Amino acid sequence: MLRLCLSCYDCLGLPGNLVKLIRNYIDGRFVSGKPEFADVNPADGTTIAHVTEANAAQVDEAIYAARQALRGEWGQLSVRERAARLHRVADAIEERFDCFVQAEVADTGKPLSLASSLDVPRAAANFRVFADLIKMAGLESFQTETPDGAQALNYAVRKPLGVVGVITPWNLPLLLLTWKVAPALACGNSVVVKPSEETPATATLLAEAMQEAGIPRGVYNVVHGFGPGSAGECLTQHPDVNAITFTGESKTGAAIMKSVASTVKPVSFELGGKNAAIVFADCNFEDAVKGLSDAVFLNTGQVCLCAERVYVEGKIFGEFVEALKAKAEGLNPGWPNEEKTNLGPLISAQHREKVLSYHRLAKEEGATLVTGGGVPQFGDDRDRGFYVQPTIYTGLRESARCVKEEIFGPVCHVAPFDSEEEAVAMANDTKYGLAASIWTSNLKRGHRVAQQMNVGITWVNCWFLRDLRTPFGGVGLSGIGREGGMHSLNFYSELNNICIRL
Ligand code: NAD
Repeated sequence: MLRLCLSCYDCLGLPGNLVKLIRNYIDGRFVSGKPEFADVNPADGTTIAHVTEANAAQVDEAIYAARQALRGEWGQLSVRERAARLHRVADAIEERFDCFVQAEVADTGKPLSLASSLDVPRAAANFRVFADLIKMAGLESFQTETPDGAQALNYAVRKPLGVVGVITPWNLPLLLLTWKVAPALACGNSVVVKPSEETPATATLLAEAMQEAGIPRGVYNVVHGFGPGSAGECLTQHPDVNAITFTGESKTGAAIMKSVASTVKPVSFELGGKNAAIVFADCNFEDAVKGLSDAVFLNTGQVCLCAERVYVEGKIFGEFVEALKAKAEGLNPGWPNEEKTNLGPLISAQHREKVLSYHRLAKEEGATLVTGGGVPQFGDDRDRGFYVQPTIYTGLRESARCVKEEIFGPVCHVAPFDSEEEAVAMANDTKYGLAASIWTSNLKRGHRVAQQMNVGITWVNCWFLRDLRTPFGGVGLSGIGREGGMHSLNFYSELNNICIRL
């Protein structure tokens, strides 16, 4: 069935030069207010929407509504009914599939092919997976002998945390938001979400999907705005928010940690990365080149799991760099809606300046530029967008800042190694620890090296292959805790152990 969206540009039939308004969603209503900020299309720098920034009073209202919702119908639903409604949210996303895709493409500039094959299907899948999982989730029980020889039965019951604050970034906006909202709702919580200021659209569209799916008012609330001094900080400091789940930069995680300290909230942090790939000479060469091309350039390098450090065994180093260069130069930067486009712009002018500043730094640090390093010229409106060329460097010292710091663009440094021990040591020489990939046809070595990686996720002969039931998260600066499958359910719920003397 075709749906019409209240906040969808196309469904409203607005002519292209009219700018839409993206509003907060509080207690089941879309709420406007002042001030507003601009939502910019990264492909051509045009303003596509004005966004209502939530003030402190509106954040308060959202949190109050979320708290009230726990006392109402939502708090009384059986697990089976809650799961059924989450499936309906997934249905509603699928019914408005094209609207979600267009909103995501306009906000992020990512290729339409990517939004429609990854972001939006995964959003629906997040609801389905956690709806099914909560129905299956078992409870621990133990029979205990008491000191006087009697028996006691221990069993744990799962209870919601309460109101969960969800703060998310711009790189995979809907995918990462629903990755947290779906398990939080599955566990019976209510949420107040603060999507990135760069990508406010799909979180707002999701509110309409929630309404259609029969999610009671107050269970899902959206407050737009920024971090410090704005909606983000209001959420983290608020005494009536019971937990914060956050995806974003490591330094933002540190700021949030300070902010939640006085109210002692549990946090789940999915943070930055400086991920390594290790390519052994015995790999399937074609597969490794293709895999690394994805791992470095997908979503214009703006995936936390992207590889920015590639270590290649000396014997195939030259050949590998040439092959990866050919892949980089074969990418098609362009209008996101064009079928042949497989490289979109970066998210913002500010982020492009950050990436370009690392290219300048790499030069100062002595890098050899293999390809890229600049800005493509189109000769049309895209020159006002935030595109950069896919870039490869070699020749940097391992201590160089460009090898140590997260750049978050379509860029990698490729370095040679001679021995497995050397490769493992270089890959692990980082304060981050999110993901790694190993490329080898020697499976014994694949297992051995994978188990030595100080990260939360290691792929062997693949990258970004996700089973949503598996643990996801990082070590060191890359995060705190694990989400995914039962790990998510354990974060988004409290266990009450009940001990009964028999
Ligand atoms: P960011 O940390 O700048 O912002 C993320 C969110 O936090 C935004 O909604 C922002 O408004 C909010 N925020 C900022 N400061 C805040 C504060 N003091 N208090 C409360 N909220 C605050 O991150 P970004 O630039 O949007 O995203 C890119 C980063 O996210 C990269 O470092 C990337 O590696 C990381 N990331 C990690 C994962 C993961 O799963 N580990 C996934 C995607 C992205």
